Amino acid sequence: MSKNILLVSGDGIGPEIMLEARKVLDVVDAKFGLDLQFDEALVGGAAIDATGVPLPEESLAKAKASDAILFAAIGGPKWDNLSANLRPEQGLLGIRKHLDLFANLRPAILYPQLAEASSLKADRVAGLDILIVRELTGGIYFGQPRGIRVNDSGDREGFNTYVYSEPEIRRIGRVAFEAARARGGRVCSVDKANVLEVTMLWREVMTDLAKEYPDVQLSHMLVDNAAMQLVMRPKQFDVMVTGNMFGDILSDTAAMLTGSIGMLPSASLDKNNKGMYEPCHGSAPDIAGQNKANPLAMMLSASMMLRYTFGEVAAADAIEAAIGNVLDQGLRTGDIYSEGTTMVSCVEMGDAVVAALQNA
Ligand code: NAD
Repeated sequence: MSKNILLVSGDGIGPEIMLEARKVLDVVDAKFGLDLQFDEALVGGAAIDATGVPLPEESLAKAKASDAILFAAIGGPKWDNLSANLRPEQGLLGIRKHLDLFANLRPAILYPQLAEASSLKADRVAGLDILIVRELTGGIYFGQPRGIRVNDSGDREGFNTYVYSEPEIRRIGRVAFEAARARGGRVCSVDKANVLEVTMLWREVMTDLAKEYPDVQLSHMLVDNAAMQLVMRPKQFDVMVTGNMFGDILSDTAAMLTGSIGMLPSASLDKNNKGMYEPCHGSAPDIAGQNKANPLAMMLSASMMLRYTFGEVAAADAIEAAIGNVLDQGLRTGDIYSEGTTMVSCVEMGDAVVAALQNA
């Protein structure tokens, strides 16, 4: 059966890394007989330039009709001064919301070949393997009311609403507990239950849910402590589960422990495992168009897509093994370069992964 994949190349380095991921997908498609069908859509800055809005109806319709979405990155200084509802990131937030992609899975794995690239001492991070499960369609990023208004003193004030319903907490909790079952059997739920009522409820619901998973060990941690622990003793964590905003920040912190945000994929899934797959990084406008971007997170996102939405485990394993192979060869883009390794461009890295796949 054909697998319909929507490609969103987006802005900045997005089109460059998407081209490399596509090369890799074409190889595994032929090698494993996957029957991948590709379509493309404009989202973000590119869509604003072409249509005036970050998520045109046509792009949303294509996203809904596809089996999976492979999304590069959007945004950049060109669109920074637009009003909030017209900014590029509304394209991404819109897809997540309309497709109800409520579970964001962000692995932070340190490749042994890159232990030196971490900002922490190698012994603190070697073997790091954390999965951050972030709630993605609720919380303060979506809560109503929100806006900027003039208050009673005549001053402007900005306001947002941090809200989670019990079913929202329960369904993201389930994703975390299920994931922990297939990994190290531990969930750390991160909240700010000493201050925020919304996370007092979060903690209560997670504790109740844990009764259904007696084989999984649940702990709780306040978000400020979690940030500290992540950079002090990161290997203590197996699965971390948290809300949208805390997850946004903690997953970027975890990303940096691994040495490069250019190595980290992510998946956003709905209740049927339909998903959007994207690198954790943004559109890196500082290096866009210079053939310097690391395409590996984009390729790893493609491999997560094959694994989680399509169940094509052998093809996903082949991509990950090929990436391990090029790292063993000492090939590095600028962001993961260290002395004694060979600096390559985005295209050269793509070619090397393709060659490793073909020679496997
Ligand atoms: P960023 O992730 O784009 O860049 C942060 C730093 O990491 C930069 O120095 C960049 O050069 C580097 N970097 C990122 N990806 C890399 C890669 N693949 N290879 C090599 N180096 C890489 O974050 P930012 O600078 O905060 O944001 C830039 C733009 O991206 C903004 O407009 C922001 O809104 C947008 N953004 C988009 C997404 C998304 O599309 N999901 C996520 C975050 C930020």
